[in-house]
Amino acid sequence: MNNEIINQNTVRSEIPSLAIVVPCYNEAEAFSRGVTELSKVINDLIAKKKIKNDSYILFIDDGSTDNTWFQIKQAGEEMLHVRGLKLSRNQGQRVAMLAGLTSINTDVSISVDVDLQDDLNCIEQMIDKYMQGNEIVYGVRDDRSKDSIFKRNTANMFYKLINLMGVNHIPNHSEYRLLSKRAIHCLLEYKEQNLYIRGVLPLIGFKSDKVFYARQERIDGQTKYSFFKLLSLAIEAITSFSVFPLRLIAILGFGTCILAIISMFYGVISKIGGFAVQGWSSLIISIFFLSGVQLLSLGVIGEYIGKIYIETKQRPKFFIDETIGKF
Ligand code: UDP
Ligand code: MG
Repeated sequence: MNNEIINQNTVRSEIPSLAIVVPCYNEAEAFSRGVTELSKVINDLIAKKKIKNDSYILFIDDGSTDNTWFQIKQAGEEMLHVRGLKLSRNQGQRVAMLAGLTSINTDVSISVDVDLQDDLNCIEQMIDKYMQGNEIVYGVRDDRSKDSIFKRNTANMFYKLINLMGVNHIPNHSEYRLLSKRAIHCLLEYKEQNLYIRGVLPLIGFKSDKVFYARQERIDGQTKYSFFKLLSLAIEAITSFSVFPLRLIAILGFGTCILAIISMFYGVISKIGGFAVQGWSSLIISIFFLSGVQLLSLGVIGEYIGKIYIETKQRPKFFIDETIGKF
């Protein structure tokens, strides 16, 4: 690792250059308000001398099919601190964010969504915490009352499950966070194809802190996450961080064997005692149950094997199609 970026774990004195990294997928409706508000924040922080003048907002167009890229281009021409990066196709929010983090060369990055659901006032607090020596500052939603009941409950279930599996995870942290150059460097050392950033960050270590905010409703456009997309992300997160489901299968298999042995003894004893019952339904139920368990187990194993298959191919994660401005 580069020597100049080691040992910065103390209070900082030099003001940093900042890149706000914003993935956008079909955000034609939300973009205009997003870029206006983010520009205000950048200009305000520059005026307050909290960040360097060469700070910028980097919008990553994640293969949008509407005119998001056109709008980013236009903003790049009209506004001083706007840059753009277009991916060759839709890769998902996390990959788009990684593409952004890989491309920037500033002292700090702050990743945020374009829809303004995350409170932009936290950006200044994040910078302050960076100046206090933190390498990572997590944005944490301490009020999710504006999220739908469904989203809140499924998120809670997910956090409980992932905790149960022993994954170190910061509940209610979304993708809103500050990363120092050093933290980005470490994050990019994780070469997994489906990098679950929220799970990896606590593993990196270093001094980190949190800022709290109330999650807002989306004003323009719509969420890009359907129920099935969320479910697949949850499975992805669990299987990339824990082998607990595989262990659970072994435990289940062991339990079933014990049950089989007990029933064998019972069979023999009932035969000897003359109280054996010819049970058709119990037989069918146990066949269904056991084949269900077996198929489910195969599915879980398949999920992990599929992961190994994808990882071994080591395919490139994204391709950059076009860029706007220097970064
Ligand atoms: N996003 C992306 N690629 C995708 C899906 C979403 O870049 O495939 C972006 C999206 O444009 C937004 C952010 O990720 O800036 C969060 O998406 P969204 O607001 O739909 O998620 P939610 O807030 O509903 O969880
Ligand atoms: Mg959103």
